[in-house]
Amino acid sequence: MTSPTAFASSAPLSAEDLRAPDGPRLPRPENLRTPLEVTPAPAAKGAERLGLLTVGDLLEHLPRDRSAARTVAELAPGEVATVVVEVRAITSRPVRRRGMKPLVEATVADASGAMKVTFFNQPWLERRYRPGTRLMLHGKYEARNRFRVQQHAPTGEQTGSAEEVATYPASEGISSTQIAALVAEHRPALLDVVEPLPARLRARGGFPDRAGALAAAHFGDHEGGRGRLAFDELLLAQITLLRRRALRRETTRAEPLEAPGTLTPRWLAESLPFALTADQRRAFAAVDADLASGRPMQRLLMGEVGSGKTVVALYAMLRAVEQGAQAALMAPTETLAEQHFATLQSLLPDAFVSVSLLTGSTGARRRADLLGKLESGELGLLVGTHALIEAPVRFRRLAVAVIDEQHRFGVNQRRALDRKAPEGLAPHVLHMTATPIPRTLALTAYGDLDITALRELPAGRRPIATHVASTERERERAYERIREELRAHRQAFVVCPLVEESEALQARAATAEYERLAREELRDFRLVLLHGQMKAADKQAAMADFASGGADVLVATTVIEVGIDVPNASMMLVEGAERYGLSQLHQLRGRIGRGAHDSVCVLFGPKESARLRALAEHRDGFRLAEIDLELRGEGEMLGTRQSGAAAFRVARLPEDVALLDAACELGRRLLEVDPELELPEHALLGWAVRERHGADAMEPIPA
Ligand code: ADP
Ligand code: MG
Repeated sequence: MTSPTAFASSAPLSAEDLRAPDGPRLPRPENLRTPLEVTPAPAAKGAERLGLLTVGDLLEHLPRDRSAARTVAELAPGEVATVVVEVRAITSRPVRRRGMKPLVEATVADASGAMKVTFFNQPWLERRYRPGTRLMLHGKYEARNRFRVQQHAPTGEQTGSAEEVATYPASEGISSTQIAALVAEHRPALLDVVEPLPARLRARGGFPDRAGALAAAHFGDHEGGRGRLAFDELLLAQITLLRRRALRRETTRAEPLEAPGTLTPRWLAESLPFALTADQRRAFAAVDADLASGRPMQRLLMGEVGSGKTVVALYAMLRAVEQGAQAALMAPTETLAEQHFATLQSLLPDAFVSVSLLTGSTGARRRADLLGKLESGELGLLVGTHALIEAPVRFRRLAVAVIDEQHRFGVNQRRALDRKAPEGLAPHVLHMTATPIPRTLALTAYGDLDITALRELPAGRRPIATHVASTERERERAYERIREELRAHRQAFVVCPLVEESEALQARAATAEYERLAREELRDFRLVLLHGQMKAADKQAAMADFASGGADVLVATTVIEVGIDVPNASMMLVEGAERYGLSQLHQLRGRIGRGAHDSVCVLFGPKESARLRALAEHRDGFRLAEIDLELRGEGEMLGTRQSGAAAFRVARLPEDVALLDAACELGRRLLEVDPELELPEHALLGWAVRERHGADAMEPIPA
């Protein structure tokens, strides 16, 4: 880059010239990295807690909303307000009450008038706020022209400005008013903010420039400014996801598995006891295309419990096995792994393909035998837990890996599974989740995966009537109803209240509930208990007892959330339902309604709970996920993902869905024409991606 010169001259300008008040001013983004200085010490700690380490961080810390600043003359008795004033006089005087520090009193004024303000317990303010100091004060105006200060900070703002004052997310040690004053002080640094969007795109989208948007968000049209900033944030995240995906596609190879051989068509024709749903057929087709591509499949299969994901997973795995390659399915718990193992066996007739199970409780002899057969290639299909990714487990030719409840595994665990493929290759990976994710979140959190959803439930599913029970009478009726079901030789689940503090407390609560029911409401029936602290063998015995119909009622913690299939179970009671998340309750409920009988789910909890009401009204898991997102906001939902995009700072989903769509579209188009963002007009956008998501976000894609 050539250095800037003076107007109509070729003489280069010195740094001094450039800094001159009326000289040209170029953005110097490095200035935004200047450490933020905050006093006093507790406020500095508070700022650090909020992640405000640099001037740039501060400028990106947007207010929640803005409310009108008031002038002194406008204040009404009892009103809580923020004013910008100048100190006229300040004194301190002792307080008679023991243990109290001297009281500081000041006369402050703006153009409209003067008033007396009091600061409690901060005698040092007398020396800090000398006459002439401009202050931003937040507090309560009391009668007789007195103002009781709650928050205060020196400010560069004009006194009596009729502007609005922003409310910032604050933390212990630093108040919103202090942050507002800091932002006002650092307002000139907005000149150092870089515009990442090419002018052409900005003009087309009708966006303000980035510095202007930040200024608006802090000092002016809050929503207007926020929109532009949210767009930037979504665009940078989208570009990062698309880059990550492109990088993976370009740098890794997977064994191409072309058209289905003879095994899978035979399996479909002869062994499946049902017709596939249209969604399942679409999923098969997507898997076929992925497997044939020579690039590793990275597909997320979303579908509620019972939507038939396992059938799709088995299809993908058989496609590997029929070519003489191997496949593995990894589940997060032993219970789930065992369940998958049983399902796969039931879906595969004897001698069709050999499947084995490997978990932490697999005996040493069996394990040695299994590892041998895996290494020789004799064993085609392996189901298991984390035990699958341990070092001694070696596949001869792993081509397809299925990861169930993929969000419960860390990045490293998923990588370890990738490394089980032959040298130089990655396996095709099918990620499964029973948590339906709203489209907006899927785009942001899983933009680097291809997504297939199974929305349609297999035919023959019975409706589940869901009720919320709040009163004693409703509770009595629920127990009456459960006894009716049990007398009709059907079975039921009782889910214990969630105890978040510890597994041990959770187990104790479940045990107490089990004992109580066995003594009281359900004393005529056979109950079994299932909780997370039981030994694996005991859990297995309890589940087997219930599955075989030996036990009438399974009293359990959420360990039953996934992995139990008992079609004869037609009723579920959930205690303390309001403590559970919406999607978790929906998943729990999916354990019933699997047989020939109408099913009933009773949620014990407050009638006014929006979550419980939503469950009573809706059955579609994707619809419920949208509602959940509306109720909770995206931050918390994203929290369940262990890697990738962090929650957004500015963007709000689902409200900003239009911005998200625009950002996805633009990101895609930009990378199509300029995959490395190296055209001059995209250079600053590439820089912004690296700033926000790290240098490796824009790592070059090998040609
Ligand atoms: P998920 O893994 O999504 O919870 P599964 O694949 O375990 O669902 O299927 C749930 C049950 O429905 C299983 O008993 C399975 O055999 C059965 N099933 C799967 N697909 C169909 C279908 N298309 N028609 C009828 N039953 C099906
Ligand atoms: Mg399943």
